[in-house]
Amino acid sequence: MIRSEYSRAWYHANRERVLARRKELLLRPENRVKRDTYMQKYVERNREALETRKQSWSQRRFSDLKTEVIAAYGGRCVCCGVDEPRLLTIDHSNRDGKEHRKQLGRKNVYQFLKEQGWPQDGYRLLCISCNWVTRYGEPCPHVEQDAWVFAAPPCGVAEATLEIVNA
Ligand SMILES: [Zn+2]
Ligand SMILES: [Zn+2]
Repeated sequence: MIRSEYSRAWYHANRERVLARRKELLLRPENRVKRDTYMQKYVERNREALETRKQSWSQRRFSDLKTEVIAAYGGRCVCCGVDEPRLLTIDHSNRDGKEHRKQLGRKNVYQFLKEQGWPQDGYRLLCISCNWVTRYGEPCPHVEQDAWVFAAPPCGVAEATLEIVNA
């Protein structure tokens, strides 16, 4: 048996013991620097996998939070009734959302609402279509179609306009 084969076989047979010994040495206080270098190298080598793991964790956490938001705000678009979670978004009905959102970021608006105990005044659930058409304060086409049967006022319609529609 040539030398490299021999040492490979030896390593194979004693693998557990070798690894345990290596770990024990690494954990000794005098080997702290070595250990840090080892950890650094580990992180570098596995950067991608670690990153993916971190991402999927935060995505999961985000979608849990979004589920809570949707439930807290009625579960459907207050204008057209769409209830597909991926299409739903929180609308600042007071039109003061821009600055607030800029400060908080999308994820943190949800966190903010949760911390505030789901304030109903000034926030409502809209689907992305209704949210998009009403982004400059114009009423949603759904209003003209007489299609809204939901209790909450249709998107983008001020109180005054609502009275005219109802008259
Ligand atoms: Zn809608
Ligand atoms: Zn609409």
